[in-house]
Amino acid sequence: MFIQSNKVPADVKAHAVKYGDGSHLPPNFKEITAAKFAASKFFVYSPDFWEYRQINAYNDPKGAEKFTGDLRLAYFYDGTGIAFASHYHGGGYVPRFFSFALCEHREKTCKNVGNCLSTYTCVACSYAETVDSSD
Ligand SMILES: [Zn+2]
Repeated sequence: MFIQSNKVPADVKAHAVKYGDGSHLPPNFKEITAAKFAASKFFVYSPDFWEYRQINAYNDPKGAEKFTGDLRLAYFYDGTGIAFASHYHGGGYVPRFFSFALCEHREKTCKNVGNCLSTYTCVACSYAETVDSSD
């Protein structure tokens, strides 16, 4: 199956308001382990779109305290994402993995809405997702 790599958000300005612009870290940005990346939704869902950002102390002094360098960001349907960096360390390049999110959707309520269908609603932002558990 093909993956569209040049798709952009429907409203680029609204996207920048929510996620920051191309020289700032996205919200709730944090480094994750390779194991957490391997268990992430990156391997379950195709990203809606990709973005390239350069983070440095000149453009984002606060963000540069967490990370400096080039990032590839993969955005998912629910406002979360995974970011990648190639970091030069110890004479070679190593991958680094990050997560970000408008909301981390941690506390969810669950409601059965049909045969094997459950709707999970985030109590923090009200994002709702219906999951078919029969698959
Ligand atoms: Zn949420």
